Amino acid sequence: LLSFVLSAVDAGVVAANYVEAIGWIREGDRIAGAQVQDRLGADRFDVRATLVVNAAGPWGPALIEDLPLPIRSGRPLGLSKAMNLVTRSITRHHALGGLAGSRFLFVAPWHGVSIVGTSHDPFDGRADSLRVRETDVSAFLEEVNQAFPAAGLELDDVRLVHRGLLPAADRSGRLLLKQSVVRDHRADGVPGLMSVLGVRYTTARGTAERATDTAFTILGRTPPVCQTTETPLTGGDIPDFASFVAEATQDAEETVDRVTRRRCAHSYGSRYRDVLQPMMDDPSLAGSLSDDCPVTRGEIQHAVRHEMAVRLADAVLRRTEAGSAGHPGLAALEAAAQVMGVDRGWTEDQRAREVEHTEQVYRLDP
Ligand SMILES: Cc1cc2nc3c(=O)[nH]c(=O)nc-3n(C[C@H](O)[C@H](O)[C@H](O)COP(=O)(O)OP(=O)(O)OC[C@H]3O[C@@H](n4cnc5c(N)ncnc54)[C@H](O)[C@@H]3O)c2cc1C
Repeated sequence: LLSFVLSAVDAGVVAANYVEAIGWIREGDRIAGAQVQDRLGADRFDVRATLVVNAAGPWGPALIEDLPLPIRSGRPLGLSKAMNLVTRSITRHHALGGLAGSRFLFVAPWHGVSIVGTSHDPFDGRADSLRVRETDVSAFLEEVNQAFPAAGLELDDVRLVHRGLLPAADRSGRLLLKQSVVRDHRADGVPGLMSVLGVRYTTARGTAERATDTAFTILGRTPPVCQTTETPLTGGDIPDFASFVAEATQDAEETVDRVTRRRCAHSYGSRYRDVLQPMMDDPSLAGSLSDDCPVTRGEIQHAVRHEMAVRLADAVLRRTEAGSAGHPGLAALEAAAQVMGVDRGWTEDQRAREVEHTEQVYRLDP
């Protein structure tokens, strides 16, 4: 996912995270930009634009709530709460499909654990109020064990819950929306604004193509021929993956071992040298976060310096593999906080708060 943002930045986009749109700049009926707030500080400021694209996913509908009523015609009728569970390993080398009632579930091996999914349940509330409770996970585990009786999964086997909201086609949230929505809000009497609501990550490029064409049309320009089908993402320009990995791992030198090189080749693609070079220059960066967590200090430093990781959870859960297969252990979190803290200027207290904030992700609400 991150590669989409990195590719956009390579193409000239200015990206910013931890900046929340909290309102609109309005000039008559027209939207002329957004009022935004720094989520980590108190600053509020305006970002003006000829055209604003609301691509805030499940939060998108709430953002347009105070705009004229017809604008709601472009929003989904409801939201569905979705979960995938990261569990102890169920199958090592193959994926399974199975039925629980009429619901089709999957199990896939991943980084030494399994991912089981996907649950879909009605959700009634604001996107910010999404919680995953033990009872939700227990209920889903019953279905999983019905689909895969030999798995015998229990609550203690769940290491992490991937959770989120998806746009639904009905108010109950049971029926998922099948097609992404791209809407030009001139049709609703609100020029200067369009909405993009994606339904699948796998079809994101198709949705982006429609969105870009719509934006060009609104701006009165002819859209260029779209090149998304043949444009690799940043790091993805690899003609033959097997020989690429073989090459990346072959001249393992003492500073950076073969396992780290292999992981970096898989995670960063053709950008892997950008991550390895600082480790070769400063061998302390090639050390793993802990005996139980092979991710290196160098990967955490790369996340802060080149991938806009701002909080510890960004680096551990969304930039590196450190915590993506389950809690990496307190020692690893503390080591990662230490590395990040140097660049972020964290005090000991702040490091402890970041560790606690990250640990919350692994806890279920009672
Ligand atoms: C458990 C689960 C499993 C899934 N499995 C699959 C799968 O296997 N295959 C697949 O193709 N898809 C899958 N999906 C769906 C996929 O994740 C979504 O379709 C996709 O993330 C939608 O992308 P998006 O960019 O439109 O929205 P999002 O990914 O929701 O991104 C919206 C962004 O807007 C930001 N935002 C919100 N409000 C504001 C604001 N006010 N100001 C600034 N920013 C804001 C949010 O922080 C967020 O980063 C799954 C989803 C879930 C929850």
